[in-house]
Amino acid sequence: MRQDKFSWPIVGQEKNIIFLISNIVKQKLAHAYLFYGPAHLGKQIVAEYFVASLFCSARRANQSNITIPCRQCANCQQIFKRIYPDVFWLEINTDTKEKATKNISIEQIRNLKKKVSLKPLTNFYQVVIIKNAESLSLPAVNALLKILEEPNKQTIFILLTDYLNFIPSTIRSRCRLLRFRLVKQARISSFLREQLHLAPKQANELSRLSNGRPGLAIRFAQQNKFLVDYQKNISDFIKVITEGIVSKFDLAKRIAKSSFKEINSRLADWQLIFRDIYLAKMGKQKLISHYFVEPEINSLAKHYSWQRLILISKNLLKLQQYLN
Ligand SMILES: [Zn+2]
Repeated sequence: MRQDKFSWPIVGQEKNIIFLISNIVKQKLAHAYLFYGPAHLGKQIVAEYFVASLFCSARRANQSNITIPCRQCANCQQIFKRIYPDVFWLEINTDTKEKATKNISIEQIRNLKKKVSLKPLTNFYQVVIIKNAESLSLPAVNALLKILEEPNKQTIFILLTDYLNFIPSTIRSRCRLLRFRLVKQARISSFLREQLHLAPKQANELSRLSNGRPGLAIRFAQQNKFLVDYQKNISDFIKVITEGIVSKFDLAKRIAKSSFKEINSRLADWQLIFRDIYLAKMGKQKLISHYFVEPEINSLAKHYSWQRLILISKNLLKLQQYLN
């Protein structure tokens, strides 16, 4: 983790960070940004640091190019606590049972419109951060479009999504798109060693398991139950592969009850398992990401022919496309 004047304490995503910083320094802010890419790459943290850099009193008083928020001033503290009066976080309402929704509703956008139609309380900018922007309901999308079509110089929108293809093109075309990319395993591993003080072996294992997603590696390192559950899901799936049709149907039935997001992430995990089997068949055991089931993966590699492995990978990809 570097922390110089061009970087925020985030693993990877330098291109995006440098771009956002230069937007602040040159005072050329887009009306709307859309951060997209797989989960666990730091989209929320980057949004937070961007907003804090924008409002940080220390930075603004300094009049310099140094764009690391101080985290000490009142503005920074309120932004990181998510209570700053001119920064609105919008996400699926899961508060109470009555109000809980599957989507970001039109009411939420209407309420937001009321807020952004007022002048910023701090007489500077207003920022709206929309988490899981793919879950905007259709009426909410239309209402949001109307707001985006009448740009107000003092309001900045930041939309975050793991699924760019679910964002209507009408919204996309009004946003500055920033793609978040997977991070090299070696960088994640050194972050785990240097910042979280993990032993080299564990840092290496967890960075392999995270497959380029630093947020996931950090969660594995900090929440043991999360790691154990993840490993159990993988081991269960490997067991099912080797078992008969009945247990395969059982698994399908169980998974069919899950949310779209869960199914999608399971499919992604399965693709990675078959990638591991493929790597094992090539003799590249060191690159296997699911290190804790290496013996099982090796025996599956012997069991499957190349043609069969390619077919399964193709089908998994197709399944994911259908689902999307
Ligand atoms: Zn500050």
